[in-house]
Amino acid sequence: MDKASIIKRALELGFSRCGFARCEPLEEIRGFYSDFVTEKRFAGMQYMERYAPQRLDPDLVMPGAKTVISVAMNYFPPVLIPDEDNYIIAKYAYGRDYHHLMREGLDSLSGFIRTLNPAVRLRAFVDSGPILEKAWAQRCGIGWQGKNTLVINKSDGSFFFIGILLTDQEIEPDEPETEHCGDCDRCTRACPAGALDVPWQLDIPRCISYLTIESRAEVPEDLKNRLGDRIYGCDICQDVCPYNRFARAHDVTTFLPKEELLKMRRKDWISLTETEFVSLFDGTPVKRVGYNRFIQNIRANQTPS
Ligand code: SF4
Ligand code: SF4
Repeated sequence: MDKASIIKRALELGFSRCGFARCEPLEEIRGFYSDFVTEKRFAGMQYMERYAPQRLDPDLVMPGAKTVISVAMNYFPPVLIPDEDNYIIAKYAYGRDYHHLMREGLDSLSGFIRTLNPAVRLRAFVDSGPILEKAWAQRCGIGWQGKNTLVINKSDGSFFFIGILLTDQEIEPDEPETEHCGDCDRCTRACPAGALDVPWQLDIPRCISYLTIESRAEVPEDLKNRLGDRIYGCDICQDVCPYNRFARAHDVTTFLPKEELLKMRRKDWISLTETEFVSLFDGTPVKRVGYNRFIQNIRANQTPS
């Protein structure tokens, strides 16, 4: 199958990178992942212990899969929401939920691959199945998993989403990316919650991103004074990463923050009504946490330390 034409089409569709790997079990992380599950390091995200064999071997997800295709989509914003007199939202959540755009892009890429071979079998994943996207992004040469546990590309930084296609076609694999953190420890030192005290191993229950998005419980008292005005997600370990000085602004209109979101300031957040919440965040990832949970995050930042 013509790899160059697939890459060309992926870039035309708005993806910033496209890489390929042989669909073989992820032996290099089997031990790490088994410990992760056995020690229940997934905090409240129980889904991470389900389908463990499939996560380590995509042939169990799509029997007969020969190649994993990994794509990246840049989300580094051209405009940052001002942080002065404000609460802070993670950059990935400024605009429309990325799942839609990534899924549309992967469906279009699948359609193109079918024009090369109508009999091809394909399955697309965007945070949607038992696929370890970051490990595959590394295998596909897109980037390496840094000490902050995120995938970093030497030229692009780490502000990108990852999507996966499995196919039954043989396509020449790329070289897996190697690790380029070296002696750097900026992310581990900068993490306000101590969630990266062990490099490459996120302490999920301490991570502000987990605490303000995924966790169903309120932010624990002892971590409230670590939030640093963050009310949805946390980009600190990416902001300090030296490779992100290479991040280029995306050109995806739907990822842009609404004008009304750009104008929000601390006093507006404190008096936010449910109607205003829906108006600000309809169609964005933030909407999924719900108004009540979002207000809890704002209140957690108001707790005196
Ligand atoms: S997202 Fe924030 S809290 Fe989580 S590891 Fe990175 S710096 Fe620490
Ligand atoms: S800040 Fe340094 S150690 Fe952390 S992920 Fe980036 S390069 Fe690696």
